[in-house]
Amino acid sequence: MKKLFYLLLTMLLLATSLLAGCGNNAQESAKKNGQLHIVTSFYPMYIATANITKGVEGVQLTNMTKPQTGCLHDYQLTTDDMKTLEKADVFVANGAGMESFLDKVIKEHKNLTVIDASKDISLLEENGQPNPHVWLDVDNAIKQVENISQQLCSADPNHAEAYKANAAVYIGKLKELQADMNNELKDISHRDIVTFHEAFPYFAQEFNLNIIKVIEREPGSEPSPQELEDIIKDVNKLPTKVLFTEPQYSPTVAETIARETGAHIYALDPIVTGEANEQALDAYINTMKQNVLTLKEALK
Ligand SMILES: [Zn+2]
Repeated sequence: MKKLFYLLLTMLLLATSLLAGCGNNAQESAKKNGQLHIVTSFYPMYIATANITKGVEGVQLTNMTKPQTGCLHDYQLTTDDMKTLEKADVFVANGAGMESFLDKVIKEHKNLTVIDASKDISLLEENGQPNPHVWLDVDNAIKQVENISQQLCSADPNHAEAYKANAAVYIGKLKELQADMNNELKDISHRDIVTFHEAFPYFAQEFNLNIIKVIEREPGSEPSPQELEDIIKDVNKLPTKVLFTEPQYSPTVAETIARETGAHIYALDPIVTGEANEQALDAYINTMKQNVLTLKEALK
């Protein structure tokens, strides 16, 4: 009987301390004028987090990088970024190697909660490195919303219900988008595509497209004359001669290839640039719809 009593007492104490733990965390976060300051690394993270935190009282959301920054390959933190991080309670990162500065951020900001949006997502590899462009597969985008929402609930348990409800609404919209995209892309007659950056393997995998060539792996890494010749050969073999550039990249190389092969140039948008404002809420969905229209037009 005594044993049972102690067991119950221990359980009670444990439960109380767990509850207190949550409370303390929330108080910790709420300390700064009752505000939780969340900073996102780049645009796709901003879009997801803006949907999850929509209308939640006391949340201040900032996108660290400038609207035209794009992907963060080899990105170096600026003085402004460091000031932004100084004021942050939570930092939302894509992970999977997109933010090469992430270790430095974790080391220098011990009290910052860092959210890894790509937790448990299986990654494709390019030349032995994980490909970080996971959000371009809608299933992964949904998983990222779940990851951000769950980790935000632990960081700010006072608003957990609101984050969960918002995440559920947004995931519903993403599932609808995914069904529409599958439906729209199921009957296209050609599936071989040439792109300009390693952004689309996840997208291609989800929608059964074959990326036969990637022309510029990183911005500014232009192909050598020999590579250019090989690319021209590959493009000439395509049943539908089309090239997909990205609005974030200079079209010069694409124009050269187009001149040599007669290929048409279209733009696919990896959704990495845009203003951190109200419009961002639907930016992923609207841009994906535009990408589908572009693919249908290009590959008909
Ligand atoms: Zn990229």
